[in-house]
Amino acid sequence: MSTTVENVVIIGTGCAGLTAAIYAARANLNPLVLEGPLPGGQLTTTSEVENFPGFPHGVDGFQLTQNMREQATRFGTRFEQAQVTAVDFTSLPRKLVLGDHTIFARTVIVATGASPRMTGIPGEKELYGGKGVTTCATCDGAFYRKMEVAVLGGGDSAAEEALFLTRFASKVYLVHRRDSLRASKIMADRATAHEKIQMVWDSVPVEVLGVKEGSVSGLKVKHVKTGALSVLPVKGVFIAIGHIPNTGPFAPPLQVDEGGYFKPQPGSQVQTNVPGVYVAGDCSDHVFRQAITAAGMGCQAAIEAERWLAEHGG
Ligand SMILES: Cc1cc2nc3c(=O)[nH]c(=O)nc-3n(C[C@H](O)[C@H](O)[C@H](O)COP(=O)(O)OP(=O)(O)OC[C@H]3O[C@@H](n4cnc5c(N)ncnc54)[C@H](O)[C@@H]3O)c2cc1C
Repeated sequence: MSTTVENVVIIGTGCAGLTAAIYAARANLNPLVLEGPLPGGQLTTTSEVENFPGFPHGVDGFQLTQNMREQATRFGTRFEQAQVTAVDFTSLPRKLVLGDHTIFARTVIVATGASPRMTGIPGEKELYGGKGVTTCATCDGAFYRKMEVAVLGGGDSAAEEALFLTRFASKVYLVHRRDSLRASKIMADRATAHEKIQMVWDSVPVEVLGVKEGSVSGLKVKHVKTGALSVLPVKGVFIAIGHIPNTGPFAPPLQVDEGGYFKPQPGSQVQTNVPGVYVAGDCSDHVFRQAITAAGMGCQAAIEAERWLAEHGG
């Protein structure tokens, strides 16, 4: 029985995977793309995207990924609704286990993204993405001009998000369960000294209000020492408690950093420690985490895969 060996298998259908698919398909590589648990990726969980080039009036996040998918399909990309559960990269072709069956590929592009950590409090899920609860100040901060918002978290990203939001919001509450920030001293000092930032120390969020109205109308918080409940009158809740990179089934053999993000080889943004295997997008980027940067890395990975195939046969 002959086993099909794919030229390139792309894992993930966020901006990174779909851009890699467009490039690989246009290079005549007939790519196979695996959709994974979230077809279209993180952008499908938001409404308006205002910072993706080429859309002067903004574009709906779901529509943007649909457009990319259509563009990839036009050049011959094939899609499969499957999730990679394990890999074997010890020999060529590379082996990918998709639950109950196995596929083989000469080159692989892993574009599995990252999942924002959530608090799990009532109202958070219902009001996530375009309704007031978000995980990205760079993406959504501008929607909260002259409004009061809350940032949840106490690390560097929470301090950074809070400071960024002061450009738009009238007031930023920084809610943290302790009485000092975990953030680096310089970030913590900047945040605590900022006139628009009000620290809400020793407090945890207990409920996002506004589910009935369909948009955030407040955040209920509890003081951990006294148990007292209060409501912050905010229109936006920015969750900044970290991300979980979706690198589990691939690491090892692929190298990751201390945060679990893929660690490309020195001098490359996309080349992994396994020849012919590339990474792209948020799964290897804990700094920028933007649609356009993910797309850029997807492009790089596809071009690298194409060159590898040209050199090694494909
Ligand atoms: C609420 C929100 C709003 C945002 N707004 C903006 C914005 O306005 N502008 C902006 O530039 N960015 C925005 N972002 C960030 C942007 O969505 C991400 O930077 C971008 O989606 C990253 O793309 P990616 O392809 O790397 O990963 P993702 O979009 O995370 O996609 C990952 C893909 O991998 C698949 N996958 C995961 N594990 C497996 C597996 N084991 N097997 C197979 N497939 C797998 C998933 O199904 C998914 O298709 C926002 C993010 C969020 C959460």
